[in-house]
Amino acid sequence: MITATQAAAITTGTWDPNGPTLAVYDPATDELVGVVPQMSATEVLQSIEASIVAQQQWRETTGLERSKVLQRFGELMRDQEDRLAKLLTHEQGKPLSEALGEIRYAASFLEWSAGEARRIYGETIPAPRANQRILVLKQPIGVTAAITPWNFPSAMITRKLGPALAAGCSMIVKPAELTPLSAIALLELAEMAGLPSGVFTVVTGVPETVGNAIMTHPAVRMMSFTGSTAVGKMLIEKAAHHVMRLGLELGGHAPFIVFDDADLDQAVKAAVACKFRNAGQTCICANRFLVQRSIVEQFTERLAGEVDRLRVGHGLAEGTHIGPLINDRAVEKVTLHIEDALNHGAELVTGGTVLSPDNLTSRFMAPTILSGVTPNMRIFREETFGPVAPITAFDHETEAISLANASDYGLAAYFFTQNASRLMRVAEQLEYGIIGANDGAPSTAEAPFGGMKQSGLGREGGHHAMDEYLEVKYVSWRI
Ligand code: NAP
Repeated sequence: MITATQAAAITTGTWDPNGPTLAVYDPATDELVGVVPQMSATEVLQSIEASIVAQQQWRETTGLERSKVLQRFGELMRDQEDRLAKLLTHEQGKPLSEALGEIRYAASFLEWSAGEARRIYGETIPAPRANQRILVLKQPIGVTAAITPWNFPSAMITRKLGPALAAGCSMIVKPAELTPLSAIALLELAEMAGLPSGVFTVVTGVPETVGNAIMTHPAVRMMSFTGSTAVGKMLIEKAAHHVMRLGLELGGHAPFIVFDDADLDQAVKAAVACKFRNAGQTCICANRFLVQRSIVEQFTERLAGEVDRLRVGHGLAEGTHIGPLINDRAVEKVTLHIEDALNHGAELVTGGTVLSPDNLTSRFMAPTILSGVTPNMRIFREETFGPVAPITAFDHETEAISLANASDYGLAAYFFTQNASRLMRVAEQLEYGIIGANDGAPSTAEAPFGGMKQSGLGREGGHHAMDEYLEVKYVSWRI
């Protein structure tokens, strides 16, 4: 258990260890996992001040120096992956194997960014006048901030922090109230890796208090947010005040299309991984299965066979595939989506019930499949964030694309086909930032991650992530 006092000791020393705290509970058992400070607006301001001072020095370091710190930070995460994964499972609930996967994924962003720190190239551009030279410099944007969600408490931080630190920025991170302990554990490792105090700070507390202090401070030049579209829109309004740069990774409602020429083994395997990972609480998880009518029965039957093998339980119990949902509100929302679909004519293929395995809390949902789902149902239009696979039949490629694109979201889409012409055609027509073509798990540190439409602004991962944290400065030089 990390106490507020310990947490204070590993930060910039600006937290009051005797002040109010927030408790963190295991969603599977309701046991106390730890407490963190509930910081006041003044304490958040102190952290911002520390970040301003630290950034002035960090920006003067060389790319090689920053690269070494990031590489070491990533290595420390890998060295301590068991401890970090256990903590993550305790505060978030996901199975330990998935938590380990997240820690490795999180470390990969630090390692990738370590390489990028050495490749922040400017440009020289041929000038139209003989006595002019055109230089383009890339410089750190300055003090940055991040607000992150509970579903990936570690990776959603390093995906932002890696490129920010590589670029020479400092970053103030506000983790989700439900999962702040993984953020504090990262802070500890960053200091061990040699990151100067104040370059990375964590602020915990009531979201409005912390968010307002950050969004209204003129020195904070960039906010990188991952979370719901509703909160993202609110941050857009607040950012207007100082014209703060925004990176937004918002909600998703991913279609998963299976054409009749797909490799069904591949599609079913990908469907299970893509839908039921983290109990369906991922922004890019498949939310609408669109299956060609000629194979819909076969696909449903095979998917049900796989789903019935999934074990529900505490994330630390051996062999668990599906842990609890994060809180009671999540259980209510998923239940509501299932009931609404059934009331509008969908059929329950498997699951559909709330469970409390091994006398744990009642936040476990049986993995569920619904067939005969139609666009008038809530589950077809809204992000469910639970282990429910709704299946809709379609007849033609154009119908599949139009159903898939009929959403305000545009984060990830998946489709399965063995026809190469169709593969290119469909990939080009889907209005989504991430396309899994015969691939249910496209995320990787090397590639740009982000959404179109109301799923967000900007990209994380790949070399593209660096641009979010850099200013482009044009120098016109008369000689
Ligand atoms: P959320 O309610 O929007 O919360 C996200 C973060 O915003 C949390 O740290 C939360 O703090 C904070 N927050 C809430 N209200 C705030 C306010 N008024 N001012 C400042 N900060 C505020 O979303 P969530 O339920 O945690 O996460 C699920 C959502 O995230 C889903 O929509 C999912 O699709 C999306 N997501 C997107 C991506 C992506 O890469 N596109 C990745 C993961 C998740 P508290 O927790 O303390 O309330």
